[in-house]
Amino acid sequence: MNDKPNKLAAPAVGFAGMTRTDLREWIEERGFPAYRGDQVFGWLHQKRIIDLQGMKNIPGDLRTALGELEEPGLTHDETLVARDSTRKLLLTTPDGQRIETVLIPMGDYYTQCLSTQVGCRLACDFCLTAKMGLKRHLSAREIVDQVHIGRTIDLDGLRVRNFVFMGMGEPLDNLDELVSACRIMLDEKGLNISSRRITVSTVGLAPRIPELGKAVPVNLAVSLNASNDEQRNSIMPINRRYPMADLKQALKDFPLPNRRRITIEYVVLGGFNDTQADARRLARYLHGLKVKVNLIPWNPFEEGPYLRPPNAVLEKFQAILLAAGFATSVRVSKGLDIGAACGQLDGVPVAA
Ligand code: SAH
Repeated sequence: MNDKPNKLAAPAVGFAGMTRTDLREWIEERGFPAYRGDQVFGWLHQKRIIDLQGMKNIPGDLRTALGELEEPGLTHDETLVARDSTRKLLLTTPDGQRIETVLIPMGDYYTQCLSTQVGCRLACDFCLTAKMGLKRHLSAREIVDQVHIGRTIDLDGLRVRNFVFMGMGEPLDNLDELVSACRIMLDEKGLNISSRRITVSTVGLAPRIPELGKAVPVNLAVSLNASNDEQRNSIMPINRRYPMADLKQALKDFPLPNRRRITIEYVVLGGFNDTQADARRLARYLHGLKVKVNLIPWNPFEEGPYLRPPNAVLEKFQAILLAAGFATSVRVSKGLDIGAACGQLDGVPVAA
């Protein structure tokens, strides 16, 4: 990864993307009591009042000072509803970039899939988002806005309970903004979401995995997608930089809260990584890690190079992992008909 600051940077921080700590500090530095920071934070994230004029208990001179930190957020243009009730929300950034967030029905609750970048630069060859390249990082505010906008959607009385950073982009390629967004989501005076309900998924930027865990106590998912280095190199260029042994060490170094496990995502690419030998190699690789496995049948997009694996193949693969002692589930693809399933997000509306 190239870490030079560049034009891909997220927009400047506005108050709606600041953590409570940063907001308190900023306010104190300007001669106001720090608790005003808590109040502004509450208006923003609990009452969803973004307009400074609406913050009734904030003194006028502080509102004027905060005016310096105003930053426009996302606009919600359209909602596509799939046959299975999955909702894909098409959102536009202030500079006209299109991103997506997806609300996924899980029975008696919904899971929201969040984006962290416009596009992605990791170039995994089975993923449609990768085809866009990276346009830019999203700011913490733009990440948190997705949650706020999600809350405005009528889900037939159900609630969004879980949040997964599995939308467009590589979360750990935008670590600072991701961490600020997670802090705002976790803050009991902010969105007040339990850390058990937030999962960050990564391609495996190894050094940043423990860094994430030290910054915020969220769940971790890793897109492994292969059973050895040769295979992984050929579909995920990042593996040349951080091969599977480095990745395994990083997973051991992740400060895993008690009784939790890391999720290993494995996209099953029909005809490529779906043999019984693959399943056995995967089990050997995972030996010694506290993990559960989530098999994701590959979701096709036009010109995609793979096949969707047949159920019998998936079942056999799963059985081998189960026999090796790994809790293993198969992810049911949702929202396929509106291009809302894993690896299908590219910011372009698809007619249902
Ligand atoms: N960049 C992060 C976050 C995106 S998560 C990451 O890769 O983990 C998106 C998940 O969908 C990843 O596990 C990825 O491997 C998987 N995926 C990508 N394209 C897919 C496709 N066409 N079908 C099924 N899963 C796909």
